Amino acid sequence: MRAKSGRIEIKTPAQIVKMRRAGLIVAQIHEALREATVPGVTTEELDKVSADVIARNNAHSNFLGYGGFPATVCISVNDQVVHGIPGKQILEKGDLVSFDCGAYILDEHGKQWHGDAAFSMIVGGDAYGHPDDLALIATTQAALWNAIAALGQGDHIGVVGDAVEAVVAQDAISNGWAAGIVEEFVGHGIGTSMHQAPDVLNYSVRGKSRKLKTGMVLAVEPILVRGSGLVRELSDGWTVVTQDKTNAAHCEHTVAILPGGVWVLTAFDGGRDGLAAFGMSPRAVAQRG
Ligand code: MG
Ligand code: MG
Repeated sequence: MRAKSGRIEIKTPAQIVKMRRAGLIVAQIHEALREATVPGVTTEELDKVSADVIARNNAHSNFLGYGGFPATVCISVNDQVVHGIPGKQILEKGDLVSFDCGAYILDEHGKQWHGDAAFSMIVGGDAYGHPDDLALIATTQAALWNAIAALGQGDHIGVVGDAVEAVVAQDAISNGWAAGIVEEFVGHGIGTSMHQAPDVLNYSVRGKSRKLKTGMVLAVEPILVRGSGLVRELSDGWTVVTQDKTNAAHCEHTVAILPGGVWVLTAFDGGRDGLAAFGMSPRAVAQRG
């Protein structure tokens, strides 16, 4: 999303538990999309897969109708960066496809609690992926987890941008090319609405950022491209593509800031596997009954 300003919503432990319920539904959507994404499927068939998971959980889509968006999931293929609209497009073996979707639940007071997450994959399996696409996805995933780990140890929101830049720089050596960071789209606070303050930038601001506090929940979402990072919007008013026609990847989780660490609300395991590489384990709010 684009920049957002205003007050940061601090959540109570009980509210974070509600957001975990939404996050687990988003994790289910991702699992169903991964399974259904096979060569020959259309992107509108995959939107149906997402909508079905939301309905089965008595949850609601926070994408459908957002600013008029016509589907429950953004599906962006190859040089499409974000906000691709599901339709008649047929996915082919070797396509690099990114899914960005979410859900919210309603609590007993009628308040919405949102989850938002994204992932990229190769249609038909990694064996069919172009080596640069595989490297781009791996770098984007690594950037996401480096940023999440940094939130677990850092004291200000700017650690996210520093962490993304560090992975891009390191992988540039092994890949032989540097991924471009799409600066136009940023992560965000999330809670009773999907997009809230603060902005969570994917590039370094050299220390000028707000302090992290227990009870913040942030959507962390690096968007990286094989080329320059410059993008443009198509005439459909949604789909964003790279100007240089190189491919893009997008990885996102909704992350709660807790005492002593983070809880990755949109990962089934709360972030256990992703954080293990950093010698960290997720925190969680104890859930009763
Ligand atoms: Mg998202
Ligand atoms: Mg988001």
